[in-house]
Amino acid sequence: MSDPQVLIVGAGPSGADLAYRLAVAGVDVMVVDRLADLRQAAFSSAAVPWSAVEEHQLPESVIAARWSGWQLLGPGGQRRQWQAPQPLGAVLDFGALRHWLARRAEAAGARVALGWRAEGWRPHGAGACVQLRGPAGESRAVEANWVVDASGQQRALLGEPPPTQHPLVRGVGVEWLVQVDPLAWQRWADQLSFMLGSDWVPQGYGWVFPMGPGVLKVGICRLCDPRGPQPPLQTLLQQLLDRLGLGGCPVLDRHGGLVRSSIHRRENHQCGPLLGLGDAVSTANLLGGEGIRHALSSSAVLAPLLLTALSGKPSALRHYPRRLRRRLGWRWSLSGRLAQRTWLGLRTAAADRRLNSLLRGLEGCSADDLSALLFDYRFERYGLRALPYALGWR
Ligand SMILES: Cc1cc2nc3c(=O)[nH]c(=O)nc-3n(C[C@H](O)[C@H](O)[C@H](O)COP(=O)(O)OP(=O)(O)OC[C@H]3O[C@@H](n4cnc5c(N)ncnc54)[C@H](O)[C@@H]3O)c2cc1C
Repeated sequence: MSDPQVLIVGAGPSGADLAYRLAVAGVDVMVVDRLADLRQAAFSSAAVPWSAVEEHQLPESVIAARWSGWQLLGPGGQRRQWQAPQPLGAVLDFGALRHWLARRAEAAGARVALGWRAEGWRPHGAGACVQLRGPAGESRAVEANWVVDASGQQRALLGEPPPTQHPLVRGVGVEWLVQVDPLAWQRWADQLSFMLGSDWVPQGYGWVFPMGPGVLKVGICRLCDPRGPQPPLQTLLQQLLDRLGLGGCPVLDRHGGLVRSSIHRRENHQCGPLLGLGDAVSTANLLGGEGIRHALSSSAVLAPLLLTALSGKPSALRHYPRRLRRRLGWRWSLSGRLAQRTWLGLRTAAADRRLNSLLRGLEGCSADDLSALLFDYRFERYGLRALPYALGWR
């Protein structure tokens, strides 16, 4: 294992995409991931808007299903549906996505080392030295001019931001892949379905997404409230499945994970030769527990700056946090506040009533409007109705 110019820790969407961009530009780049097979441990529900499929030129092989509508089941189970004539998005096969991104980076010249875990780092000369543990337990030190922490919410090298200055809001999710008969499949196909209300999931929400034909992704996510005990997620998910009539379906896979982001994204993005990327610098959005396209955007922002730094102008990286904030947009933070406000408060009858009136207000919208609201965070379109929630006035 010879030393690369850039070492990336984590071959998730952000790390593998950055490896590709740097390799295409002729940089000697290595990406390591603790997973031995990127198709395994596919923890993400991986719903994305169609604009993300187009922008990042995702191939057919990573698309599990398309969707062109929304279905929201509110408190008490009232069902509302919105349908568009064209696809509004895709549910990706997250394992296939990671595998494809890593293969693409490798084809461009990046070195991809799987089964290698980064255990720590230290400054070394003008660069950094990273301690790696290999698949057979072997230890190895790799030196690089620049190291990128793309290890997701774990922040394996950057570590936790100081909680008093940059508190991380935590969402915890579990998801089961269930097999259903063709009739049940038809009920959930071609749309993203969300279950909203404290009787479904207190302090969170549930979902049913179409995966391949006859397979659904059913999950729940809850924001963690440090002030009190939390109901166990597995029980809540089983209750949700039972209530939807899916309780007896064979379960093909069970997975889950954490989404952790600071609301204002002011934490350090750089520590000398160490840079943070993707979820490691809070690009995951808490409103829908959604971050694949933002992780990919973070690599699009960092790549040109890192290339300038490699050409001898390291000061270019000073612009990284501001450019990434600009790329995510001012609505990104607003949606984080809305998420915190909405999900943490969703545990009383009064909160359910407020949610119900918000859902009633959305009845006149189109499916495209709903996508603009939930993926582009265009709350101001609904000014009088949604903005007070976003600003925390209600
Ligand atoms: C339950 C759940 C549902 C989700 N649903 C959606 C959704 O529907 N749509 C959406 O867009 N987003 C969703 N997300 C969020 C999305 O998956 C993440 O925002 C996205 O994967 C972040 O990409 P990343 O590259 O920054 O980090 P990750 O995808 O987390 O990749 C980090 C990589 O680093 C590796 N790694 C970690 N530590 C080390 C180490 N010490 N050494 C070596 N390698 C290491 C990991 O194995 C991993 O492969 C969901 C997340 C969860 C938990």
